[in-house]
Amino acid sequence: MFDIITGQDEPLSRLMTMKKNGAVPHALLFTGIDGIGKSLAALSYAMALNCKAVEPESVPCRQCRSCKKILGETHPDILPIRPSGSIIKIAQIRDLCQKLLIKPVEAAVRVVIVHDTHTMNPESGNALLKVLEEPPDRTMFILISDQASDVLPTILSRCQRVSFSPLSRGSIKDLLIQNGVDAHQAEGVSAMACGSLGRALSLCEKKPNRPDPLVFRRFLFDELVSLIRGGTFDVLSFAEKFSQKKDQTLNVLDILLSFIRDLIVHPFDKDTVINRDIADEIENISGSMTTASLLCMADLITAAHQGIKANASVRLCLETMAIQIKRI
Ligand SMILES: [Zn+2]
Repeated sequence: MFDIITGQDEPLSRLMTMKKNGAVPHALLFTGIDGIGKSLAALSYAMALNCKAVEPESVPCRQCRSCKKILGETHPDILPIRPSGSIIKIAQIRDLCQKLLIKPVEAAVRVVIVHDTHTMNPESGNALLKVLEEPPDRTMFILISDQASDVLPTILSRCQRVSFSPLSRGSIKDLLIQNGVDAHQAEGVSAMACGSLGRALSLCEKKPNRPDPLVFRRFLFDELVSLIRGGTFDVLSFAEKFSQKKDQTLNVLDILLSFIRDLIVHPFDKDTVINRDIADEIENISGSMTTASLLCMADLITAAHQGIKANASVRLCLETMAIQIKRI
């Protein structure tokens, strides 16, 4: 049913069982990091619930009128909601509620897909809650979010949760090679991707003025080492360099966190190092840091990541993080 989604057998099998048993709940919450197939699974499930194919094993067929409309995002009863700017606004939910007053145009099951559910503020969340409490006829909701703890508790309590896992490093490496990436780059990028195929593919995209991902990672490692070693390192310049784009900043913090993780685990188990192709450099730095100070850095990077995700000032979060790391 979901043959183009990789490495998510468990959640996809649960979804298939719900459909087969006629027990599809009116609200599902798909959780898991970005770039592992949650949105694609939501679209595929909407197709499966409305596919006109006769043979159950070929559902969704991607060929029938309904599947084609959903794939082309022209189906009148598949209603996506995405953040407008950085949040899902109450006006968007009010607009959705107006549409839901009318019966589905042609779908057996109308599907509302809410992307980045965690970007709803309490007002838009409360507005959505009303329709979740009394779902309209022939209508279901698929809410998508990185993690359940970021979703408003009142919304969470109305949904059945389906968890999607980060992909294994080996799976990402194999998929990159299948997509034409050379083996050396696939090895390094699979370490940087932190389980996200979407991030891995994005890192491998060739764009003007974008450095090679492995060169960029090396640059980040050197920046972290400079930050750790203090000296004349300019904290404000560090924050300025990486505060241009929110998504890019989050990616940078994930990579920094992977270095810290490697520095922590290296003395105990060299085989579990993620950034294996720079293992020598990691060994050199690892010996000069205590586990306690590395854990403290990991906490500071995680706090900056959480702050930025919650729409705090990117620049301020980075400056605070860098100043505190320098003080360790
Ligand atoms: Zn179909």
